[in-house]
Amino acid sequence: MATVFAAPGPVTLPIAGSDLRFPVRRIFCVGRNYAEHSREMGGDPTREAPFFFTKPADAVVESGAVIPFPPKTADLHHEAELVVALGRGGIDVTVEEAPSLIWGHAAGNDLTRRDLQAEAKAARRPWDMAKGFDHSAVLGALVAGPLADAPITCTVDGRVTQSARTGDMIWSVPEIIAHLSGYVALCPGDLIFTGTPAGVGPLLRGQTCTVTVGDLPPATVTLA
Ligand code: MN
Repeated sequence: MATVFAAPGPVTLPIAGSDLRFPVRRIFCVGRNYAEHSREMGGDPTREAPFFFTKPADAVVESGAVIPFPPKTADLHHEAELVVALGRGGIDVTVEEAPSLIWGHAAGNDLTRRDLQAEAKAARRPWDMAKGFDHSAVLGALVAGPLADAPITCTVDGRVTQSARTGDMIWSVPEIIAHLSGYVALCPGDLIFTGTPAGVGPLLRGQTCTVTVGDLPPATVTLA
């Protein structure tokens, strides 16, 4: 097929212990899915249904990268998250069916321009430029298969900033998948960032941030 300029190549992620790579289709993210984080952001964890935002697939950063400090922010934040990778699609899937869509998991960091997010919230504007900017989706290598309740941590230059368990989520992974599949037709290759626990905070130039989720390969990024 002739195109007017070179079509971009696929976005892919490494798979632990494999030469194959995982092709990324879309990136969905859940807001406020841990009670303590919902409170620290001014929410009420008892009443809110899950809500979603997105990042472009080419926001993906592989663990170990050094990225430029994002422009237009004086308050870049880390958000440690479990990321679910889908190997099957579905529409209106039930909570019971949802696990069958899961291909595997990764540790992720939902980098956020918190100042732009606060401005967007106040002005009732979209979050895109707060969440979906270049290099904003940091991911460790994927691991195939199911994942049990696991500790989730974030460290900044070795100092622990976030520490919780994935089992503390308000909405479980199957519930997230079921909800999201009511809004969009989920597809193989879709990634879902499942929300962050309490303790989000700033990242400065020169700092290195590492997210771990159980035994999954860590997601590490350094700000230039
Ligand atoms: Mn997040």
